[in-house]
Amino acid sequence: MIELENVSKIYRMGKVEVPALRGVNLTIEPGEMLAIMGASGSGKSTLMHIIGFLDKLTSGRYCFQGTDVSRLNDNRLAVMRNKEIGFVFQEYNLLSRASAVANVELPLVYGNGRNRHKRALEALERVGLAGRAHHKPAELSGGEQQRVAIARALVNNPTLVLADEPTGNLDSANTAEIISIFRQLNQDSITVVLVTHETDIAAQARRIIRLLDGQIISDERVG
Ligand code: ADP
Ligand code: MG
Repeated sequence: MIELENVSKIYRMGKVEVPALRGVNLTIEPGEMLAIMGASGSGKSTLMHIIGFLDKLTSGRYCFQGTDVSRLNDNRLAVMRNKEIGFVFQEYNLLSRASAVANVELPLVYGNGRNRHKRALEALERVGLAGRAHHKPAELSGGEQQRVAIARALVNNPTLVLADEPTGNLDSANTAEIISIFRQLNQDSITVVLVTHETDIAAQARRIIRLLDGQIISDERVG
């Protein structure tokens, strides 16, 4: 599904070059559940952004489902991202004035209104939040807000879900709930890649890679 070959990313800040990724080789098969670990600044978010087409690599090659991503223009990339990839971030990034269901409907810019609403409700049901559809974010706990964000990531039926420290703001009970949702999605054959600082969370994945200074220093299968 994902093939990164000798991928480097250098950010340029004025005259200073910041290497964020240095020669990353990584293959992810459909149906995997993979955790990315590493210290702050090791390149985890940069790697997620590249995998999710939110950022471009400086050198190397990236094939997504057999397509060389560098050959796609921004329009094609946006369409493919919208269709195939769901994102979840540490900050839930919900619109505060919109209800849970309205937030989940946002990625469905095409489809007709009635269908949109129904699909958003189904996505909320998938994360166990159908009963909170008309609550605004401020009326939901942190864990519930993150579940709304996961529903929003799911509403287009992605094949890949990318989550960058999705439990970073949550207590242990909510963390366990969120991780069990990701495991369920993975059992439903969605490929899941998640960044985490915590070993016990990573241990719930089936594969763990570790980054150090922009390089993969280990890649282990779990269980
Ligand atoms: P992590 O998510 O593991 O904390 P990041 O991928 O965010 O690491 O960052 C890797 C390196 O790239 C860091 O040195 C960071 O300062 C740098 N970096 C990340 N994003 C940018 C950016 N937009 N501009 C400049 N430097 C960046
Ligand atoms: Mg990060």
